[in-house]
Amino acid sequence: MTKAFYNEIGISEEVLSFGEKCLSELKERFEEIDRIAECNQLKVLKAFKDNQVSESCLWGTTGYGYNDFGRDTLEAVYASIFHTEDALVRAQITCGTHALALALMSNLRPGDELLSPVGKPYDTLENVIGIRPSRGSLAEYGITYSQVELLEGDKFDYEGIKNAINERTKLVTIQRSKGYQTRKTFSVAEIGELITFIKSIKPDVICMVDNCYGEFTELLEPTDVGADLMVGSLIKNPGGGLAPIGGYLVGKHECIENAAVRLTSPGLGKEVGASLDTLRAFYQGIFLSPTVVSAALKGAIFAASIYEKLGFEVVPNSNESRHDIIQAVAFHDKEKLIAFCEGIQSAAPIDSYVRPEPSDMPGYDSQVIMAAGTFVSGASIELSADGPLREPYAAYFQGGITWPHVKFGILNTLQTMINKGLIKL
Ligand SMILES: *Cc1c(COP(=O)(O)O)cnc(C)c1O
Repeated sequence: MTKAFYNEIGISEEVLSFGEKCLSELKERFEEIDRIAECNQLKVLKAFKDNQVSESCLWGTTGYGYNDFGRDTLEAVYASIFHTEDALVRAQITCGTHALALALMSNLRPGDELLSPVGKPYDTLENVIGIRPSRGSLAEYGITYSQVELLEGDKFDYEGIKNAINERTKLVTIQRSKGYQTRKTFSVAEIGELITFIKSIKPDVICMVDNCYGEFTELLEPTDVGADLMVGSLIKNPGGGLAPIGGYLVGKHECIENAAVRLTSPGLGKEVGASLDTLRAFYQGIFLSPTVVSAALKGAIFAASIYEKLGFEVVPNSNESRHDIIQAVAFHDKEKLIAFCEGIQSAAPIDSYVRPEPSDMPGYDSQVIMAAGTFVSGASIELSADGPLREPYAAYFQGGITWPHVKFGILNTLQTMINKGLIKL
């Protein structure tokens, strides 16, 4: 029966049975992912119950957004889920970069220094910090930056970090996910160790975590192990594929209040900012997020298993523990990378009939190919892939809001390569 449905949508029996063979070896890993989703679902539900989310919370406000009960309750729900004093969860935060920039610009003052103890931060933060000279950067406001590289094996350079911390060090930024780098993604436990070490040297330094792509991949979050401030995007994990826009900050009251007066205005802070029609999607999105993230995690592991069996280098591999939803597959071949992205695109519910083309992108030194047929434009919690057209010709793959869809998407990449004669099973 199942075969017939796959056949109808273009997956051969050969590809399906190859996929099933890989899956049969992943049973225990999938059970572990389901267990994490189960616990996180309860954690989220408890936050809803504890904050007495009611039907009227789902309705938004317009204009100034004074007395926006639904918005304020949503922020209380986020603070409960992440065990923090306060939260800022807003549609007016336009994306992850904006949320991170807001956190930095509001908690740093001229003369302060920002430290990244985990090497280079995400590309777009280079403009925010002023590593790449940019209009409006922290550097323009006299905020300096220092960076400590990771050691061999992506270990923290504790000696280097100790030496880098000085009397001006005000905030330490720790990126959990590898993003588009080749380093590993840090586990919450590792982040906890790093924060403990940093606090032992300078107790009052603000430890911030860029949590993009990490939410609900583990039982604990960085705020459970000492982070003062944690930041992410609602069109990634915590939006559950439903949030149409937005970003969040959770953490110490002081840090969140700084961000609120910077997002709106001194004197106004969290009191303004109409939620318009976003609240239902925000609530339902975070409610669904634990199982959506579990689908994305299964997809990432399934892709790793398939492509490592075919001899490609996959990061992480199918046995390693997971701390974000990103999967990299290095093809070392332009045509295979393109075929992979074509397979993802044609598996999408939206724009399945378009073919992705490599093109020049601002800020990249080579062409980039991107595949995303998403309900929310550019939402990478939905099935999506991209990769720069240069060695190692790696596809970065993530998302998928249901497991059957991600499974089909991965099988479809393989089918596309076989149809083009690039791979034989
Ligand atoms: C996606 C991402 C960002 C930036 O988010 P945008 O929404 O793309 O601006 C920052 N850091 C990491 C680790 C990310 O994955």
